[in-house]
Order: sequence, then structure tokens, then C-alpha cells
Amino acid sequence: MIRVDINVGDIVKKINISGQVKLHEPMSRHTSFKIGGPADIYTVPADEADIVLIAGVAQSEGVPLFVLGDGANILVSDKGIRGIVLDMSQFAAIQVKGQQLHCGAGAEISDAAEIAAQHALSGLEFIYKMPGSVGGALWMNARCYGQSISEVPGTVHYLDDMLDHQDLTLPDPRFAYKKSPFQGSRAVLLSLDLSLQTADQTAIWSRMQEVRDDRRRKGHFEYPSAGSVFKNNRNFGMPSGQILDELGLRGLRRGGAQIAPFHANIIINNGTASAEDVRDLILHAQELAYKKRNIVLEPEVRLVGDW
Ligand SMILES: Cc1cc2nc3c(=O)[nH]c(=O)nc-3n(C[C@H](O)[C@H](O)[C@H](O)COP(=O)(O)OP(=O)(O)OC[C@H]3O[C@@H](n4cnc5c(N)ncnc54)[C@H](O)[C@@H]3O)c2cc1C
Repeated sequence: MIRVDINVGDIVKKINISGQVKLHEPMSRHTSFKIGGPADIYTVPADEADIVLIAGVAQSEGVPLFVLGDGANILVSDKGIRGIVLDMSQFAAIQVKGQQLHCGAGAEISDAAEIAAQHALSGLEFIYKMPGSVGGALWMNARCYGQSISEVPGTVHYLDDMLDHQDLTLPDPRFAYKKSPFQGSRAVLLSLDLSLQTADQTAIWSRMQEVRDDRRRKGHFEYPSAGSVFKNNRNFGMPSGQILDELGLRGLRRGGAQIAPFHANIIINNGTASAEDVRDLILHAQELAYKKRNIVLEPEVRLVGDW
């Protein structure tokens, strides 16, 4: 049973960790949208023992736990997040051993691609410059340029709902388009060991530059956003962005939020957007797509916190 009227003071006393604990931390500091109200208890564990303790307290106290990667795929409510946020940023080590790349879940997935390239290892070029952590990429089964992260051979190390260690070997048939077996569970992803291929370094860098330049051209880094708002679906017959475009939604504003003038499937924060502004645009787009085209658009961006 999840309690929402949590006694922050009592719970914080139980979180004796070597990492950091902050109260009422604004989530706008931790999301690519630069939006989001305060998290009741914001923790930055320093080691695995800290993670186990934090997750254990959340379970024994019956309060929600939200595991935060880089915050690049979430829209956090203006009212913030009740319960505990567990920030994985200290688990950012990346090590190379032969053709194996060991990545902490809090490492940037793009840094992993860059370090692989420095060692002439191929397999992660497609995901270069995609925002987000290794854990977030796995949880979301991030996909770009025709490839998903779960298609790269490797092993995911994680804590399951009972906080026991588990390994999952990739590829695994439970992953699908933007779906992973971790969604709907309380798993905390700890690290990923990837088996990459030795290849020509010039070719690796050249592919990475191509995808980086493509993202730049598409305006990905110009404004705060969370990338694509809606998932694509083959049954629609066209990308979700094109549907929204044809519905005339490009450029539409709500408060400080706007459907990007350069891409109808991206919502941007012009500097003053609230989470409500962004959500209004999401709901409006969904309503219109359903009314005019009988299409149910499924958000890819996760709405998190106290709505
Ligand atoms: C400019 C831009 C471009 C983008 N382009 C793409 C793209 O091409 N393809 C694509 O797929 N996405 C894209 N995205 C979205 C985003 O980059 C990905 O979804 C990314 O994988 C999110 O990672 P994150 O670490 O930021 O996850 P977060 O946003 O922090 O979290 C997302 C989910 O993962 C969970 N999670 C994160 N880490 C862990 C962990 N260690 N253990 C358990 N659960 C965890 C969180 O609880 C949450 O439910 C883009 C975003 C931006 C801003």
C-alpha cells in the first residue's frame, strides 16, 4: 500500500547513507525539460549498499520510490514527487576490457559510445548523442536510427523487486519497441556489460558524426525537451510527428510550452513552461488525433509525480 501523506522527517532519519540526502529538491534541476516541482526526499546513493538501504526504507515505509537516470524522458508534475527519488548519477563508471564495455547504470549512454569508439569498438554508434543514462536507455529500450539498445549483446545487472541481484542476457525476447521487462517492476538497474565488435575506428567515428549531425540538424539540442513525445506505431501508416503535422499542430503554444516549430513530435520549453502547459499540449494532441483520425497516440514521455 502506497502512502502519500508521508512523514518526511521520520523517513529521512532512517536513510543513513554515505551519499547525499536533500529535502524538497526542485526536479526542474534534474530533467531535460527543466520542469518539475520538488521531490520530498532526494537521494544520491554513493554505493550499492546505499541503494539497498534507500529502496528498503521505501518498501518498509510504504512510500513511492522513483529511480532517476538523466531525466531525459520524464515530465515531472509542478507539484513534484511524493516519496523518495533515487538519483543514479554516482554510478557512472565506464571500463573497457578487451571487447567488453562495462557501464554503470548512471553513465551517459553517449559517453559509453564515445569510449567504445576510442577503443575501436563498434555497436553503440547509433546511440551517440542521445541524451540519457545507460539505465534509462535500458529501462525505456531506447531506439534510434533503426536500432534499439536491447539488440546490442550484453548482460544487465540489476536488483529485482526483492532487492536481490539478477542478470539478464541481451538480446531477450521480452524487449520490444520502446518496451522493456523492467517497466512495471521496481527493479533498480545497476550496470551493463556489453560485448562489442572490433572495427575500423575511422568508420566508427564517421557513423557517430553522421548521427550527431542529424540530431543537430533536427534541432534536438536547441531547447529543453524530452525528445519525441509520442511513440510511433506501424499501424498509423506514418510517423506520429507527421500525423501531428497534418493536424496543423506544429508551433502551437500553451503558456511557455510549444509544439516545436521544427518537429511536431517534440514539445519544447521556451523558458517558462510549467508541467501543466506541456501536459495540456499532450492532451490536446491526443484528443485531436483521436477525433480527426481515430488514432490513439501513446505518450513515450513518462508523466512522473503528483498530478
Ligand atoms: C533531445 C532528445 C532526444 C531524444 N532522442 C531519443 C531517441 O532518439 N530515442 C529514444 O529512444 N529516446 C530519445 N530521447 C528520450 C531519452 O533520451 C531516452 O528515453 C533515454 O533513454 C532516457 O534516459 P534517462 O536516463 O534520462 O531516463 P530518465 O528520464 O531518468 O528515466 C526514464 C525511466 O527510466 C527509469 N530508470 C532510469 N534509470 C534507471 C535505473 N538505473 N534503474 C531503474 N529504472 C531506471 C526511470 O525510473 C524512468 O521510469 C530523447 C530525449 C531528448 C531530450
